[in-house]
Amino acid sequence: MSKYSVVDQENCIACGACNSVAEEIFGYHEDGISFVKFGDNNGQIAIPKELEQDLEEAYEGCPSESILIQDCPFLTA
Ligand code: SF4
Repeated sequence: MSKYSVVDQENCIACGACNSVAEEIFGYHEDGISFVKFGDNNGQIAIPKELEQDLEEAYEGCPSESILIQDCPFLTA
C-alpha cells in the first residue's frame, strides 16, 4: 500500500532531524520549517516505495510528531 506524508508546519520546530535521515523526502523553507518534497507538502503524491524506510525513520525521529503519514492521499483544505 502506498504511503502519503505531510509535515504539520504549525507544529514543526525546525530541528533538521527529518532532512538528515531522509533528505530525498524532506526539504526546508528559509525559516527551517520542513516540507515533504513530493507534491510540495500537499499530501497528494505517494512517497516512492524505495524511500518508505527513510520515511518511517524520519517519522520515528521527529521530536514534535509533526510528520503525518497515511495510506491514502491527504484531503486538501
Ligand atoms: S524532524 Fe519534525 S520537527 Fe524536526 S524539522 Fe522535521 S518535521 Fe520539523
